[in-house]
Amino acid sequence: MLDISSESLSEEKYLVTNIQRYSINDGPGIRTTIFLKGCPLHCAWCHNPENIHPYQEFFYNKDKCVRCGRCAEACPQKAVTPPRERRFKTNPDPPLRSLNVSPSEAGLTVAELAEETVEIDFPKFDREKCQRCFQCVDACEYGALYLASKPMTLDEMYREVKSDELFYESSGGGITLSGSEPLLHPELVISLFKRARQDGIHTVLDTTAYAKWETIARVLPHVDLFLLDIKVMDDRKHKKWTGVSNQLILENARKMACMGANMRLRMVIVHNVNYWEPDHARQIAEFAGELGESVSGIDIIPYHNFAEVKYERLGLNYVFKGFPNLFNEDVEAYRKIIAENGQWETTVGGLMGVRKKSGLTPCVR
Ligand code: SF4
Ligand code: SF4
Repeated sequence: MLDISSESLSEEKYLVTNIQRYSINDGPGIRTTIFLKGCPLHCAWCHNPENIHPYQEFFYNKDKCVRCGRCAEACPQKAVTPPRERRFKTNPDPPLRSLNVSPSEAGLTVAELAEETVEIDFPKFDREKCQRCFQCVDACEYGALYLASKPMTLDEMYREVKSDELFYESSGGGITLSGSEPLLHPELVISLFKRARQDGIHTVLDTTAYAKWETIARVLPHVDLFLLDIKVMDDRKHKKWTGVSNQLILENARKMACMGANMRLRMVIVHNVNYWEPDHARQIAEFAGELGESVSGIDIIPYHNFAEVKYERLGLNYVFKGFPNLFNEDVEAYRKIIAENGQWETTVGGLMGVRKKSGLTPCVR
């Protein structure tokens, strides 16, 4: 495949939903994490739903909406139902009852007594009809509509990374590329990580490993540490909750181990998916054992519901709406099982120690 140089990438723009500074959960030390848009998986609990689709989107924050209707006027697709005024009469009975008089005793008709109330509906956005021109966003003067991501060039991203360099030196941190799935943009990953390494900056790729092996093989030499998400080992469940089979992911992980990649496995513990299922931890430990010394640690991440509001603002259905947060103590049993089955550095909740490079791993296949 054609290897595109960083020079030819310099004008290309990528959709970045967030650049998180001083991150301590996305690899060792203090890191700058760049979140890219687009993912081949659709995990039902995804805590970054704005990253799933590979295209630009808008958020709608009802709390800031003054129902002026400018968004509807601006929409060329008629995808916005304008705020509509609704007038209705309130029931006059309760106030009269409190005075202990009937309408006729008061000398008034019910209609005369009724008070008119006016309510204005919020606008409604039909995301199916939407052609993503974002004229509604431009028209909204109240900040109720805003874009989910910012197009950025490689140079712009790297400038952000470099500005935090001092923190990396003192903490053993560096750059993390995350998503959704950064492997959708292998040229960007390679070029950014090449630059980082030239400057002595540690590189971490947070990935699902759901990609062609050729893509991973090209990226692999530029990555100091992979954070590899293993959702569930049971393929039937994996398809149900993420939309895809886990066979490619597991196969790629084995190949990565053969190539001596340094990995941490990450397991998110989610209600109904793998919570209260100690077998899940055993299976992960078994798989980590299969990958040998390539696996330097296992991270257990309890489910949190902070993304609920993002689903609402994106007009997406959230399967886990109303489910409570899980805490570190809720997943303690999983940590024990992992500890009983191997020598991995295990974290709960995300915080991990300073970087640790494992040696080359003999091929496990
Ligand atoms: S989203 Fe913005 S433009 Fe549309 S009605 Fe609300 S405040 Fe007005
Ligand atoms: S982004 Fe969608 S909803 Fe907004 S103006 Fe364009 S077509 Fe209409």
